[in-house]
Amino acid sequence: MSENKQIYNLHISGLRIAVLVLFCVIGLNIASIGNEKTTKKQNAKSGLTYINQFIENGSNLNWELADNNTVNIYLGYDYERNSLNRAYDHWHFLLEAEKGNDVTLIFHNFSEIYNGKQMPFETWIMDCISSPDDRNWQHVPVEWIDDDRMKVKIHMESDSLYIARVEPYRVSDLQNLLSEIKEDEQVKITPIGNTVEGRELQVIQVGSNNSPHKIFIRARAHAWETGGNWVVEGIIKKLLDNSRESKGYLANYTVYILPMANMDGVARGVSRFNLNGMDLNRNLTEPANPVLSPENAAMEGWLEGMIAKGLKPELAIDFHNDSNGPLFFSGKGKDNKRYVGNMRLLEKLLREKTWFSESTSFYGTTSFEEGLMSRYGIDALVYELNAHWIKSLEKKPLSEDWILLGGQLCTVFDIYCNEIKED
Ligand SMILES: [Zn+2]
Repeated sequence: MSENKQIYNLHISGLRIAVLVLFCVIGLNIASIGNEKTTKKQNAKSGLTYINQFIENGSNLNWELADNNTVNIYLGYDYERNSLNRAYDHWHFLLEAEKGNDVTLIFHNFSEIYNGKQMPFETWIMDCISSPDDRNWQHVPVEWIDDDRMKVKIHMESDSLYIARVEPYRVSDLQNLLSEIKEDEQVKITPIGNTVEGRELQVIQVGSNNSPHKIFIRARAHAWETGGNWVVEGIIKKLLDNSRESKGYLANYTVYILPMANMDGVARGVSRFNLNGMDLNRNLTEPANPVLSPENAAMEGWLEGMIAKGLKPELAIDFHNDSNGPLFFSGKGKDNKRYVGNMRLLEKLLREKTWFSESTSFYGTTSFEEGLMSRYGIDALVYELNAHWIKSLEKKPLSEDWILLGGQLCTVFDIYCNEIKED
């Protein structure tokens, strides 16, 4: 190769490198402009500023803004001791995003372990409600998408919106109820023990110990299941409305209510178990462990005290939420004529006097109905309120429907107490 050619080739190589560097610089600039645009566009489109899970009864979750301007919500599980069952059922948080934006929420972690088994993903469990003020709620459409996820599109009418699964009922709601009713001469509030974290559990008594019949009601053994609390509100408000009707009810029966058994779980925004990982609706056929399940030990101690004083309730109902809405009667009670007769009477009255229209079954477990029947001879049942659909009203439930049911139950109890069979 001649010297000239070598110089020529060097020039060409130099030129190539220069052109390459130039293109790289231009390319980098274009790319960075592009990135800036994408970031700005993403923020502008989603408008997400924060997800506040530290509200009262806020749920445990992780979240992130996804590339496609949607927000991924990873629900936190709570776990049962020993069995390692896990539940995801509670969501309640404050979505903060700029007013006017559409935000798509994708919920993950619907992988439940129940009674020791991995549960299949059920699309009918999905529901979502929203509220501008954590008080007035409406349902928002949801759809299920691949990989067991739930998609919810939210339009931001203001800069923040509360999101939940069922209408929340917080510890402060119970405290407000108690302050409202505590001076009423028909009401007695009795401390019966404490939760794992030391919160005081109380039984609300409406009526006199001397009335001919006694009914015991428990709600909120499972923290996410708020329906029972709203039913309790309906019962108490009806019984204290000073009408001729309710005075007649209170001359006939007294209700004793443990309104929020898993109060720690409600305060901490978990789904199901108490803070020691105990299911308060399991193992009731044996005395509760006072360290692991102080909430159940308190209930049992109070019930045993009532029985010792000759004040044994004739009927006991444990309110829950599920996705079917049935009544569960005691499996062992199936052979007891009195029990079967009384449960059939109750079922008939519920169908006639309330909006209840779901199924019933005698179901053998270790839960409330079985425990109170086998240990204390109390006619007991579990009432599961369908969290997603009220068949007879053809609507998705909100608190007003459960409050209505509570009022209707007061009539049911009145007739039931008059027609009940005793041993
Ligand atoms: Zn439950």
